[in-house]
Amino acid sequence: MLQSIEARTGNAVGTRWAESTTADIDAAADAAAQAADGFAATTAAQRGSLLRALAAALEAERANLVALADRETGLGLPRLNGELDRTTFQLKGFADVLAAGTIHAVVDDAAIAGAPPVGRPRLTRMRLPLGPVAMFSASNFPFAFSVLGGDTAAALAAGCPVVVKGHPAHPELSRVTAALAQKVVAAQGLPVGVFQFVQGGSIEVGVALVNAPAIAAVAFTGSFKGGTALAKVAAERPRPIPFYGELGSINPLLVLPAALAKNSDELAATLAGSICLGAGQFCTSPGVIVVPAGSAGDAFVHSFASALQALQPHAMLSAGIRATFDKGVAQWRASSVLKPLLQDTPAADSLAPRPYLAEVSATEFIAHHALQEEVFGSAALVVRSASVDDAVAVLHTVGGSLTVTLWGADADTPDHRRLVRAAAQVAGRVLFSGVPTGVAVTAAQQHGGPYPASTQPFTTSVGYAAVDRFLRPVALQDAPAWVIERQGVPC
Ligand code: NAP
Repeated sequence: MLQSIEARTGNAVGTRWAESTTADIDAAADAAAQAADGFAATTAAQRGSLLRALAAALEAERANLVALADRETGLGLPRLNGELDRTTFQLKGFADVLAAGTIHAVVDDAAIAGAPPVGRPRLTRMRLPLGPVAMFSASNFPFAFSVLGGDTAAALAAGCPVVVKGHPAHPELSRVTAALAQKVVAAQGLPVGVFQFVQGGSIEVGVALVNAPAIAAVAFTGSFKGGTALAKVAAERPRPIPFYGELGSINPLLVLPAALAKNSDELAATLAGSICLGAGQFCTSPGVIVVPAGSAGDAFVHSFASALQALQPHAMLSAGIRATFDKGVAQWRASSVLKPLLQDTPAADSLAPRPYLAEVSATEFIAHHALQEEVFGSAALVVRSASVDDAVAVLHTVGGSLTVTLWGADADTPDHRRLVRAAAQVAGRVLFSGVPTGVAVTAAQQHGGPYPASTQPFTTSVGYAAVDRFLRPVALQDAPAWVIERQGVPC
């Protein structure tokens, strides 16, 4: 059963309702499959119009949706209004990409008479939508990574129907947003199968959706545990399908000597703010802060810990997420190699935790796998490095991250080159200033990274390249004129 819960109090609101059954899920996937060919053959203008209408509908319902999101997530009105802005911007942005023609762009190699390898037929490479996409919303972005978030926008832009699985941490918002989307789809004269919605608070619902024979690909945003479990289900189907999983990440941030020498206190305060932003419930929250050994590093760590001690994160998204945070912190507290950096003060209330920060040497960090796992919330480790070798080894140990931040790499030096190389080898996005929380929606954006940050390191779930995940290249050989005249629009 599903139940709307007030995030700040843990109180239930309204009556409970049933989760989707396996029959519901199969029916949703089948409806999407029935709509798939027709939707794939729509023009860029038609899909752009759908995306703009979805953005307009969100905008028209802003006050209600934001209030509901605030009730179910406790993230606060300024953040949620900003997130809604980003979500409508994203929908309209994909409409702009459709208008620019890149999604249907073809590569056309003219025929050359004569024997191979020089002689060849005419080859026209186009891209075909994969078909129905199962879309798993995350709990921590009730708009931008939820029902009408980036994955849905990208799949619809590509010409794929979507079957969204709403997240049980904001169930009422999910179903209201889904109803809005279904109304827009109907008003655009498109079949209901273009946008389908299922809901559940149990693992079985997600598994049934990934197993539904009509589903052609999965876009997942969520935990490492959930993502790897569902990736296995996708891979073990009789017909395995692509699984695009954007998972948790520990986002190393390296404070290099040049940064320490410049504005250490300001950076420390900025970092503390980033770790507490949204109660640390960001996949891009910095979880590992690498600081050089020595007095300048000591002063930074002192200033950082003082700034963090003074902050109080707000209530977490749900009792379940709070319990997982507490479990992660308890494991760190029990570690003999960690030196706590904050005074133990009691949590403000049952849902709003205190931040956690501890220090460890690079050698111990590298030796203990449990320290390399994400603790989702306002918790981080300061890793003290004795050398550039140490810092590079820490990055290689992390292995895969959505981001790596390098503060103080402005000069072109052999050490900085090594660090930039190591950072780029393990992260989807390398920052040279600012904090990693906050992911701009642009054509150049890369939100992914080597495993365990993502199951598909060569793709992005944020930015306009996200559409590429749902398009499969097809080469047409000596295609007749009527096929070529479609200019990449599938028939
Ligand atoms: P989550 O608990 O993994 O939930 C995501 C979805 O997966 C939910 O629909 C959940 O449904 C389902 N699920 C989880 N485990 C499952 C399993 N074993 N089998 C089938 N379905 C399963 O994650 P979350 O609480 O939404 O988000 C927190 C995590 O997401 C953090 O680790 C954060 O870093 C990560 N995140 C990553 C990104 C990114 O872009 N990389 C963005 C946002 C968040 P049920 O709850 O019904 O099981």
